[in-house]
Amino acid sequence: MRSYHPAMPVRLAVGEGAFTGSGFLFDKDGTLVSFDHWLAVMGERARRLAGELELAEPEHQMLRRFMGLDRDRPGPTRGTILHLPRCDVEDAVALYLASRRSGDLGATRDLVGRVFREVDEEFPFERHLRPTAGAEEGLRAIHRAGGKTAIVTHDTASAARRHLAALGWEDLVSVVVGLDVCEKRKPDPESVLMACDALGVPPEETVMVGDTVTDLLAGRAAGCGGTIAVLTGLGTEEELAPYADLVVPDLTSISWARAA
Ligand SMILES: [Mg+2]
Repeated sequence: MRSYHPAMPVRLAVGEGAFTGSGFLFDKDGTLVSFDHWLAVMGERARRLAGELELAEPEHQMLRRFMGLDRDRPGPTRGTILHLPRCDVEDAVALYLASRRSGDLGATRDLVGRVFREVDEEFPFERHLRPTAGAEEGLRAIHRAGGKTAIVTHDTASAARRHLAALGWEDLVSVVVGLDVCEKRKPDPESVLMACDALGVPPEETVMVGDTVTDLLAGRAAGCGGTIAVLTGLGTEEELAPYADLVVPDLTSISWARAA
């Protein structure tokens, strides 16, 4: 997946702040796409599990809240398992259900694994994929200016590629690193360094963009030339600001142009 066309320097500007880089590394959920698709998938998983286990409605609602959905508040619920990688969500749900129902953990794991696989195969997630404000325009502007982009995600790269295909963004992102490609999780820098290597751009000429502290820490640990926090995901400005060179409400705040 190494990229052979050399990346061109792109100037990224936010108000007075500016960086020049030729590789732009984006987290996926909360940064390029909203959590809507993930919430929909979680809701469908909870619905099917409730059906299989014949849970009463209050138990179903408790399971939904555990999985990051709150009937009374739209959008992602902070402090839940919503931000966890796929494999950890499966484990966490199995443990939760087994402990609440005093059930056999092995059998519960098998059930949760099966339901999650069925939802992955059958659920029309693409109907719920929503780019964050400015995401597509940003990727297109970087592409036009000759820069390179990568996704560094805790989702699997295969799922991220399905998302890119559904959004019509395959040509806008050169490299995808997920947990099936690199097992080390952010804030470890390894996945970021793998993305830089695959782009053929040294880390100091890249900028990492993400919605969580772990994205920003991984970018700094990898030696990225800049880190940008977006407030379209789970992190708040207070949490993210100490680890970011710039904090923006969303990607529409950034202008990208070929560096002079
Ligand atoms: Mg994220």
